[in-house]
Amino acid sequence: MSLDKDLQKRSNSICELCGSDEANTVYAIPSSPGTKTEHHLWICPACNAQMEDIATADANHWRCLNESIWSEVPAVKVVSWRMLHKLKHLDWVPDLLDIAYLDDETLEWAKASGDDANPDDMIKHVDCFGAVLQNGDNVVLTKTLDVKGATFSAKVGTVVRKIHLVADNAEQIEGKVNGSQIVILTKYVRKSGTT
Ligand SMILES: [Zn+2]
Repeated sequence: MSLDKDLQKRSNSICELCGSDEANTVYAIPSSPGTKTEHHLWICPACNAQMEDIATADANHWRCLNESIWSEVPAVKVVSWRMLHKLKHLDWVPDLLDIAYLDDETLEWAKASGDDANPDDMIKHVDCFGAVLQNGDNVVLTKTLDVKGATFSAKVGTVVRKIHLVADNAEQIEGKVNGSQIVILTKYVRKSGTT
């Protein structure tokens, strides 16, 4: 059987997101682990167009996610979950996302597209007082630190100039002490002036 036929059978020929009987489109789910039937949806032109251009998304139309997020079909859950993340500004969406359940495998697939990325969740490096640290800042050590693999310790009060933030770890920065590049925990530094 062809992909269309398989999908029409699974969906009973209605849009798997909104239930419209005008469904006529195969939707290949981006960032899927494969290209089989289970990685596609059968959807209607309205859903398709609004997913392609999220700025045109009609809040009422997407109330359908209240149901589709509970679908037995992982592909439907994945797309619903991603769409909910794109519509997080709607007042009913965060509550629904709170109770939505995706098993680990499905959640991993859903997250693969990065649609859940939220600038507020981005890694932020802060010093011991909560001041935000940036690349190039100067900091002062608030504690004497043993340096792994070095014969010296970094004394409290040492100024570390032009720090570099460790991108994937909010608790670590890198900087030069005694001419050696070392990793320092942000909780042991205080942001210093730029001089
Ligand atoms: Zn639809």
